[in-house]
Parts: sequence; C-alpha cells; structure tokens
Amino acid sequence: MAEKITVTEDGITVPDNPYVCYIEGDGIGPDIWKASVRVFDAAVEKAYNGAKKIEWKEILAGEKAKSATGSYLPDDTISAIKEYGVAIKGPLTTPVGGGIRSLNVTLRQKLDLFACVRPVRYFQGVGSPVKEPEKLNIVIFRENTEDVYAGIEWEAGSVEARKVITFLNENFNKSIISESGIGIKPISEFGTRRLMRMALNFAVKNSKKSVTIVHKGNIMKFTEGAFSKWCYKEAEENFRDKIVKESEIWAGASADGKIIIKDRIADAMFQQILLRPDEYDVIVTPNLNGDYLSDAAAAQVGGLGMAPGANIGKYALFEATHGTAPKYAGLDKVNPSSVILSGVMMLEHMGWNEAAALITAGIEKTIAQKTVTYDLARQMEGAAEVSCSQYADKIIENL
Ligand code: NAP
Repeated sequence: MAEKITVTEDGITVPDNPYVCYIEGDGIGPDIWKASVRVFDAAVEKAYNGAKKIEWKEILAGEKAKSATGSYLPDDTISAIKEYGVAIKGPLTTPVGGGIRSLNVTLRQKLDLFACVRPVRYFQGVGSPVKEPEKLNIVIFRENTEDVYAGIEWEAGSVEARKVITFLNENFNKSIISESGIGIKPISEFGTRRLMRMALNFAVKNSKKSVTIVHKGNIMKFTEGAFSKWCYKEAEENFRDKIVKESEIWAGASADGKIIIKDRIADAMFQQILLRPDEYDVIVTPNLNGDYLSDAAAAQVGGLGMAPGANIGKYALFEATHGTAPKYAGLDKVNPSSVILSGVMMLEHMGWNEAAALITAGIEKTIAQKTVTYDLARQMEGAAEVSCSQYADKIIENL
C-alpha cells in the first residue's frame, strides 16, 4: 500500500512505497517522461529488489491541464505538491498573452521553493567547447524568490514608475530620468541565510571542500554586498566548527577537515569557472547571478540537454532545465537526460542514494558506448544515434 512522504521543517520521511507526483510537461515532455519513468522504476527495482517502489501520481499543469480543467495551473496541482511533498516535472510552455506569468515562476513562488539547485558536471564523451570539461563539478544554489526577479517593476511612463521616480528624486536627492522604467531589487537577511544554510548542510553531508559566495557587492553594497555579509554570518553563527574562511587560511589557519568559505565578485567568477574550475565545489548566489552562471556552467560541460535542476523549499520540485522544444514533440527523438538526472537528484533527496547512483553510472556507461540521442550524436565522432526511448532502454541495460 502506497503512503505519503511526510514533510516537516526539519526534513522528510520517506516510506518504502511513497507517492511521488509528476507533471508530464508540454511539447517533448510526454516523450521524455515515458522514457524517464521507466529508468527510475528499473533503478529502484534493481537497487532494492522490490523492497521499495514509487507510486506515481499524475498532477496537471500546462496544456494538458488547460484542456482538462480550463486552467493552466489548477489549484489542485499546488495543493497536491504540498500534500505529497515531492514532485518532478517536464518542461511547460509559457502561454503567450497578457497577464499570464510563467508557470514555472508561479510554481516556485506559490510553493516558496526558495532554492534553485543546479549540479553541473561532465559526462565523459560529451562534446564540450573547453579543453578540460571534466574539471568542472559544481552545485549551484541560486536564490529563487528575491532580487530583481521578484517581479516588482513598472513600465517607463506608467503612473507607478513616475510616482516612484518622483518620490526618489524629491526625497532622496536622486536625479532619475523621469521616463525611466523601474525595477526593485529586494534581498533580505532571511532569504539569504536560509539559502546559505541549505548549501552548507549540503556541503557538510556530501563532504565538499568549499562553499563560494558569488555576488556583486562591490557595486550593489546593500543588496549583493549584504548577501555576502549574511552568508558569512550564517556560516559563522551556525557552522563555526565545520568551516574556515579563506581569509583565516591566508592568516595561517588550517583548512584540515573544514569547509572553506570563499567569496568572489560575479564577473570574476565567470573567468574562474573557465580558468580554474576545480577550485570550486558549491556556489551560493542571488537570483540573477545564479541564472546566468548556471547556463554558462552548463554550456561548459555540453549544454542544457544534460543539465538537471531542482526547486527546493519545504517541498521539492525537480525539473528539466530546457524548454518544450515544440518542433520535436511526439517524435521520440530528444534527449531525456535532463529529466532523468533531475530524477537522480530527487532520489537523493528521498535518501534513495543506491538507486540514484545506479542511474548515474548507467548514463555514464551509455554515453561512453556512444549510443546517444541526436543532440549528443552530432557532437560525437562515431556515435550511433538512438531515439529517446531507445536511449532509455540502453540506460536500463547499463544500470
Ligand atoms: P527549448 O524548448 O529549450 O528548445 C531550444 C532548443 O534546445 C531545441 O530546439 C533543441 O535544439 C534544444 N533542446 C531542448 N531540449 C532538448 C532535449 N531534451 N534534447 C535535445 N535537445 C534539446 O527552448 P525554446 O524553444 O526557447 O522554448 C520553447 C518553450 O519552452 C517556450 O514556451 C518556453 O517558455 C518554454 N520553456 C520552459 C522551461 C521549463 O519548463 N522549465 C524552460 C525554458 C523554456 P536543436 O534545435 O539544436 O535541436
């Protein structure tokens, strides 16, 4: 009998037969989901000999939800994720038209999924634009709810923009051009510290060598600068026995057995991940920096098709980082790795590390054998191109 996962502020408790929600997604979503779920079930079966099994529970969002319920994102979908705690999704079309926000952004905000977690690593054999892509192996913790992405902005010339500009010019002696567009960048100690706490807990649990705070505090002192300050405060107040600051090492402290806390200015960090990628393990950064950095890092190891992601708060929603690629919908052609690797993150989140490790090894082996989907095949000499479902079959064979 399947049971619910229990979620509290302290973590999750996962029964052997848990319900897990899934959103198939639009466009290529159904093809990818069909392939991915077979890999997940086969890995769990192999890892636990039938002692554990996921009971998949479909919830609706996107085009499928619109035609079944009239809404792109029914309230039932949000409440199901809260009730069952863990969900995984394919890509969703952002409906074009006034007033409709991205479904992904809405899901993150309604569920307060404050951390966007993106591991970026290289799989041997994948085409890459850099000489030593294997040197990059990082996990990015991007703040998901604040910063200029909080959605507080007004169009140039609007009543609201003019009102804000007049207020700032008159009360704070500023000289903003009256016809400017205005965006607000809120960054709070609460939002920053809960993200840093999650990253540090991850670093401790996974024996990572360092956590690097990436910010633009040299220019934006009270938002990005404060982000850095509050990250250090969290590390010093709640993890003091486990961490050492880079500045303390320069002053002679030992790093033995400790996680080194570094900080880097965002622009310099884009150079660092190219020039000295192996000096970084875990990265903590505000929303906008994290958005840029995640895609830049993913490109370095072969692109978005291989990049998994998770949005985590009290609840967790794992997702492909690419879109719906509508021209390939229903062709059984595209690469399902992004959703499969998001499933690996999900299994780790559930504590089912054995099943997760089997899938990762299965993907490594399948790529090493050069049996890959079209996107990887076109960058690989001597590759045999297979369909989305055949690629999943190969991974299952290689578990
Ligand atoms: P996209 O769907 O990511 O597709 C762009 C290109 O990326 C594809 O044409 C394809 O390249 C490649 N690609 C994407 N996924 C792939 C996969 N699984 N395997 C192999 N190649 C893959 O981006 P888009 O065309 O800009 O966006 C389409 C829709 O997706 C939009 O409605 C957008 O809002 C939505 N979207 C959703 C999410 C999400 O749900 N998280 C994220 C981004 C975009 P080639 O043409 O070179 O083969």
